[in-house]
Amino acid sequence: MKIQKILYLFFSVIWLASCKTSAQWEGQGPIQIVPTDSKPIQMQEKQAYSLADGVFISNDFEGARLNGAEKVNDTLLRVLILPENEPINPSPWYAFKLWAESEKSMWIEFSYSENSFHRYYPKISQDGRYFQNADSADFFAPAEEGKRPEKAYLKVDLSADTLWVAAQDLVGTKDAEEWKAGLLKLDFVSKEIIGKSTEGRDLEILKIGEADDQEMLMVISMQHPPEVTGYLAMKSFVETICEDSPEARAFRRKYNLYLMPQMNPDGVANGHWRHNAGGVDTNRDWVNLNQPEPKALAAFMEAKVEQSGGKFIFAADFHSTWEDIFYTINEDLEGNKPGLIPKLIKRSSKRIPGYDPNIRPTETNERSVTSNSYFFFVHGAESMTFEVGDNTPRELIRQKGEFTARELMRLLK
Ligand SMILES: [Zn+2]
Repeated sequence: MKIQKILYLFFSVIWLASCKTSAQWEGQGPIQIVPTDSKPIQMQEKQAYSLADGVFISNDFEGARLNGAEKVNDTLLRVLILPENEPINPSPWYAFKLWAESEKSMWIEFSYSENSFHRYYPKISQDGRYFQNADSADFFAPAEEGKRPEKAYLKVDLSADTLWVAAQDLVGTKDAEEWKAGLLKLDFVSKEIIGKSTEGRDLEILKIGEADDQEMLMVISMQHPPEVTGYLAMKSFVETICEDSPEARAFRRKYNLYLMPQMNPDGVANGHWRHNAGGVDTNRDWVNLNQPEPKALAAFMEAKVEQSGGKFIFAADFHSTWEDIFYTINEDLEGNKPGLIPKLIKRSSKRIPGYDPNIRPTETNERSVTSNSYFFFVHGAESMTFEVGDNTPRELIRQKGEFTARELMRLLK
């Protein structure tokens, strides 16, 4: 057995064990209808902070979030990470780069806004592209019993070479552009701009398939900027639909899949914790449709249905949270392909040895403010919110995306 395979199995077992011990995770509470008119946001000032003794720290790049930095003493730096506005889910997104005129080891203290706590295990990178988890010996986040840590500490070795520190891999605009450019080389993939974000970024949709739009699929991701693991699962899902196999070719002749991989491009570019440039959680705006991103997508889907006379039969919105979970629609309700989502989750999960999926159908029969609810209640699309754990191993994420696509293609044959 190859060493990579042994390591993969080892980490998968650890991951599954950690899911078991935290099985009491109950998911999010009932979704509240909240106002979604634009609110002011606090922009961070882009700069390179020159701290004493030739130490520098900078947020002067896309996707970064760093709202203050100071040197506390010879071995300790403090960084301040603040949200774009409040109230907000406490999921502090941070990214910055550091260097020093002479080599030295220092501790970084992460401090957050008053109502927040530490969430993301730090990743480090030498080039800003390839990130890996910081060594566990170099990181701790002390917490009182039963409470989440308010602060966290990371030891870094500084030198003249830039060191990148981030909450998750930086897969921002550039990664998405490169990935989309690769897909657009395929002759069954095309692009459409459906609107502009508040800051003027293109809102883009890819069309995948050569079908007649009678039965359509919708996939979205990155409503919430730090939710990189969900984005990675979406990529694996879409790449499987795009592969050159008899099954995928047949699927694309029958169905068109519409994809909006970057639902919140402004939030991603600005390193927001959760909101768009209007200071709003777009996944609470699918009834009001006040914000440009959900508004543009809803208009696109509704026009598509009107022009083609077809319908959306499936939709998935990829996110990340503490652990893997599927938010689905109450199973008593029937859309355009009754039973598709429960079957799909069960079949794809069975392919991962020992994995028992956490499925949370909505308790009520009523429409709510999320994308998932919009897709089902407005279009009849069988829909789910596909949540991937913050720390789910990357190879497992890839497999989950792939298996979901394979079983979907089989179920829709
Ligand atoms: Zn989310």
